[in-house]
Amino acid sequence: MPFLMRKTGVTEANALIQDTRITNGTAWEEDEYRPSKNVAGLDGLGLPASLRQVQQRRSCGNAECTNGWTMPWRNRRRPIFEAQWGCSGRCVLAMVRTAVRRELADGGALSPTPHRHRVPLGLLMLAQGWITHPQLQKALAAQRESGTGRIGEWLMSECGLEAEQIVRGLSMQWGCPVLTTEGFSPEAMALVLPKVFIEKFGLLPLRVAGSRILYLGFADRLDASAAFATEQMTELKVESGVVEGASFEAARSRLLTCDGVEMKLEAVEDKDAMEAKITAILEQKQPVASRLVRLHHYYWLRMWLESGALGRAAGNLPITSEDVKDHVFTLGAHGQR
Ligand SMILES: [Zn+2]
Repeated sequence: MPFLMRKTGVTEANALIQDTRITNGTAWEEDEYRPSKNVAGLDGLGLPASLRQVQQRRSCGNAECTNGWTMPWRNRRRPIFEAQWGCSGRCVLAMVRTAVRRELADGGALSPTPHRHRVPLGLLMLAQGWITHPQLQKALAAQRESGTGRIGEWLMSECGLEAEQIVRGLSMQWGCPVLTTEGFSPEAMALVLPKVFIEKFGLLPLRVAGSRILYLGFADRLDASAAFATEQMTELKVESGVVEGASFEAARSRLLTCDGVEMKLEAVEDKDAMEAKITAILEQKQPVASRLVRLHHYYWLRMWLESGALGRAAGNLPITSEDVKDHVFTLGAHGQR
């Protein structure tokens, strides 16, 4: 009976392992399970218990690993980077390199200039018949004269439009829902992203629904790169939407007063220096799970130092700031290479 149960649990993994064998010619040893990003979440904790046991004897996550043996003093369960264990510092570096290369490529695909193709908010509202031509002229003139402020703000102050109308216009402009701050818990949401992202980019994690969806609110424009990075890190489906200005600002200030995950922001000279740095951190901290994602020019490494720190209820969101650490890197002069 135990044999049957084990077999059922392993079926999905077997399919993937066979797939791996075909694509990269790696031999599959009967009693060793090579964790795959496809099947394992961080540290494979998303796997059924039967698989987790099989997984305890790990093989190196570096695809080009040539080590026939592992140094006897090396921990065989840590460090884990993106669900893979590295048998040596050199192999961890190779894994980090692959991740950095991937993040560079992803970012390129996701950073077109989406706003260029959007109908300007003022014109959209004019076309909807929500404002008149003279009203739009007046707001535009005021914006031009002051040299600051968004057109929505000027339409409110100069033409008496309501905040609800502006946010409705933004939602049409971006083809996204209007989100509210109802059910927003600043303490919980402060753990989702490093605060530097909340400060720099007009975004705000709002709430998690059904342990599966994370609602991400934006002040005036959606940010596909930020949404994608958040999705990769949290393993939750991210639903983006616009939030009415005043409630967005109120919620954001509340979040910024809460404790977040301990974060270190660091500028490094270039890609090579960053890869070496990340490897050194992983080797030193020996995380049970870690991951790298890029959000615009920020490279964000999150590490879970103890398995208790991995939130099970909702994706990979930390439950407390304990035993989770963030390192955020920027490359010299925002350079990408
Ligand atoms: Zn190795």
